[in-house]
Amino acid sequence: MSQDESSWVMERITALRSQNRLRNTVALDPIGPSEVHRDGRPVLLFSANDYLGLSTHEQVRQAASEAAQRYGMGPRGATLVCGHTHIHAELETALAELKQTETALLFPSGYQANVGLLSALGTPDTTIFSDALNHASIIDGCRLARARISVFDHADAEDLKRQLLACSSARKIVVTDEVFSMDGDHAPLRAIAELKARHNFTWVTDSAHSTLVFGPNGGGLAEAAGVSSVIDYQVGTLSKAIGAQGGFVATSHTNRSWLLNSARSFVFSTALPIPVLAAARAALSAAGDGVLRETLWRNIRYLSTGLDAELSGPI
Ligand SMILES: *Cc1c(COP(=O)(O)O)cnc(C)c1O
Repeated sequence: MSQDESSWVMERITALRSQNRLRNTVALDPIGPSEVHRDGRPVLLFSANDYLGLSTHEQVRQAASEAAQRYGMGPRGATLVCGHTHIHAELETALAELKQTETALLFPSGYQANVGLLSALGTPDTTIFSDALNHASIIDGCRLARARISVFDHADAEDLKRQLLACSSARKIVVTDEVFSMDGDHAPLRAIAELKARHNFTWVTDSAHSTLVFGPNGGGLAEAAGVSSVIDYQVGTLSKAIGAQGGFVATSHTNRSWLLNSARSFVFSTALPIPVLAAARAALSAAGDGVLRETLWRNIRYLSTGLDAELSGPI
């Protein structure tokens, strides 16, 4: 008799439920930049990644709707076929400027950027050194890379150094989130930059949560730490503080050329829609003067001071 699929699935669902880990979708009605209706009740969103409120910014909405009217929605093909336009190219230039690199390459999402990048860089004689708390897309990229994987203790440059010294692989890659998505803490970027000066390796950082949040120009934690110029590949997403959708890798012209010829999550996936990119471009220009970033940090201080006072008071 053939295996009963629904009982196979039910068994797994029951196991998840018994561990309190069974998740489901919740349909929300957005009613403002940081407010939604949930089950008919208005609630404040504290879980969104739209740190600067750019997803609903007036200029961003305007740019997206004008682009949709002018060009339509679907990009009609993969980047290497016919999906690449001047708007894609202009956004890549703007992202390279933000990240202080020669150029950038857009990916359909940040997830696909990490998966495509790491699988394009790995070889059997490569060891990838990956922080223990790196994002799932980095972990999956490592799995696809056909390389050896060496996980170092979270945010621990000393442990990384020990592992680098013990490794005899011809090619070494170090990959880390800049700001860790679940804990909100930071990678020791300056210490890793010092290691790079002594031990030859390729360096990949993921700035998903730090772009437009850190750095004098919003370039991320790498800009804030003054190490942008020694990072080989700065991965980022358009879907967090930039308030749109999509991913990118900021890097050199030569590296971009290799990626666009070899990163399969890029080659075999449709390019990003023009209205989404018009939105991202408008978002970058709306954030350009740093005023929204200052507001974010004022709000962060206000919330954390209030919570500290609340927690230190009588319970
Ligand atoms: C959110 C996130 C991603 C994925 O980006 P998407 O554009 O949402 O696919 C990758 N890396 C990190 C660290 C993230 O937090």
